[in-house]
Amino acid sequence: MQLIYINDHLGYIKSSVNIGFLLNKKKEAILIDAGIDDNNAKKSFKILDDEKIIPKKIVITHAHADHFGGASWFVKHLNTEVLSTLPAKSILEYPLWEPIYLFCGANPPKILHQKFFLGKKVNVDRIVSQGRVNFDNIDFEIVELPGHSFGQIGILFENYLFCADSFISYEFLVKHKIPLNSDIKGTLQTLNYLKNSKFKGIIPSHGDLFENYHDILNENEKIINQILEFILDVCFKQISEIELLNLIYDKFDISIKDMATSVLMRLSVLAYISYLLDKDLLRVEFVDNQQFFVRVS
Ligand SMILES: [Zn+2]
Repeated sequence: MQLIYINDHLGYIKSSVNIGFLLNKKKEAILIDAGIDDNNAKKSFKILDDEKIIPKKIVITHAHADHFGGASWFVKHLNTEVLSTLPAKSILEYPLWEPIYLFCGANPPKILHQKFFLGKKVNVDRIVSQGRVNFDNIDFEIVELPGHSFGQIGILFENYLFCADSFISYEFLVKHKIPLNSDIKGTLQTLNYLKNSKFKGIIPSHGDLFENYHDILNENEKIINQILEFILDVCFKQISEIELLNLIYDKFDISIKDMATSVLMRLSVLAYISYLLDKDLLRVEFVDNQQFFVRVS
């Protein structure tokens, strides 16, 4: 973990999930995300405390456990207020929803009760939505960034945007091959918004600050378009969901060896299917009780 100042009142703790901070003159801070668990939160606080930074509020960008699991530690030890959007609040206050939706709404098996999916419960003190806000004499803007997770937001301050998981950095594109997005229409809209922006920099939750970010946004958009084209290509005939998943794994050289990767990949591919169905580019057909997808041509 490493503390990085972007300027005197703005920076982040670089970690597997970055924790951003905005400061007022008294060095009171609004944190952006809280790390995955108590241990991560405690270490982050130690780093902030060494700089005499006092966390007053935490804005949770989206309800993935690696971003909010540490929030309850800050609340318990520092009485920090927690802010999130309404969709995120429902998961922060009942974190089992994340493994539940990953397992299609069924009771999720224990194997999915792991800290990457099941964060520690934390109550949300305040709901936030798009627009300018002022808390603790810090003026900033909440920006809706749909696509990756329902209700995801970014924080814009002094023309730097903390963009959560709106896109993934090069190293994660190489590692995961397909970025995790639950809503492809939202993702493309967010990428387009970022591509048309002129921020001084963008700080993703995983990875370093980008001052020049157009190339990485294009890379993310390229892979999404490749997947859309590939699905339409192979759906010239009826394809079941399982067949489609396997074709995508082969094409993009993805290996699935555990349930965690399997449920995440399934969610990612379902997002593409949903997008193409809603655009009337795919349709669903049933033969002998089996569901198939086929291209509308
Ligand atoms: Zn995420």
